[in-house]
Amino acid sequence: MVGDMHESVGAVHLHSNVSDGSLPIPEIAGIAGSKSLDFLMFTDHNTLEPKRSGLEGWYGRVLVLIGYEINDRDDKNHYLAFRLDREVGGSTAADYVSRVRERGGFGIIAHPAEKRNFSEAYPPYPWTDWDVEGFDGIEIWNQLSEWMEGVTRANIFWRIWHPLRSIRFPEWDILRRWDRLNADRRVIGIGGIDVHAFSLRFFGFIPVEIYPYKVQFKSIRTHILTERPICGDDGCLPFAEAEKAVFAALEQGCCFVSNYSLGDARGFRFRALKGGDLYEMGSRIPGGGSVRLETMVPAKGKIRLLQDGRLIQKVSGDRLGMTTSEPGVYRVEVFKKGRGWIYSNPIVITGKKDH
Ligand SMILES: [Zn+2]
Ligand SMILES: [Zn+2]
Repeated sequence: MVGDMHESVGAVHLHSNVSDGSLPIPEIAGIAGSKSLDFLMFTDHNTLEPKRSGLEGWYGRVLVLIGYEINDRDDKNHYLAFRLDREVGGSTAADYVSRVRERGGFGIIAHPAEKRNFSEAYPPYPWTDWDVEGFDGIEIWNQLSEWMEGVTRANIFWRIWHPLRSIRFPEWDILRRWDRLNADRRVIGIGGIDVHAFSLRFFGFIPVEIYPYKVQFKSIRTHILTERPICGDDGCLPFAEAEKAVFAALEQGCCFVSNYSLGDARGFRFRALKGGDLYEMGSRIPGGGSVRLETMVPAKGKIRLLQDGRLIQKVSGDRLGMTTSEPGVYRVEVFKKGRGWIYSNPIVITGKKDH
């Protein structure tokens, strides 16, 4: 395959000590740099204060972007809103989703399927308002939700001790919903961290820090592909250009999600070739004629190719290719050690020739 893109790896949906995280943004950026992350997207609750205080920018080679997490009156329908200079207000999901869009922002539905029920002190915050239109993406995998969902009084200490082993798969319901949405329009998928590095007080007296940032950064990552490196051998792009490049990749769905605890997924590619043209993830290819779908994985795994949520081909290895002419939402999942490792954004072959 030709024309390789530049890959940057980010951690999306982070809380700092501005809301319920435990450290200041510069310190978290320092930790991210030591874990080979290229960009961070912060979303403290209901405030863009850290952006107003000038905390966006480069920290060494780590790009820090600041958005915020909005919720409705019932503390449901959490929404990650980026690329905004001030808060949009609004008390329902319909309000804030449309306002983010009107103001040129970029919005992601957070932890849509959250079901945790371990403790009344930590209730679930699912997305309930699916009639809303105009969101840009969905957090298809949320580290905190998955961790909390499986917690019981019997396993909580094991989970605290081995937080990364509890990360297994995104919710199937959400993946299915995501596939269906993509049949009509592009809805991108990202992976979120969301852990606040908070302490839980067990039995009222033992404070235990769950998931320090250095551990969180070894879990769910969002990889983007850009034409120019945001930070290359001869230096990093000016902030405004780097910001633009990151959002352009995300908006186009030229990105994938990985669970780093199963291995570094840098180098994964899922592409389509049609009539001499190369299409990256997020592309919508007009139907008619045959399309070659190619997947490359940086280490061996169980590669699964899905069409509209249906498994159509699987292989154990580091390559998968197939040719098709059928319209559909095509995406790839790679499993390792019986767990989910990589989730691509889809390539869609539309039903119409000129669409
Ligand atoms: Zn939330
Ligand atoms: Zn959050």
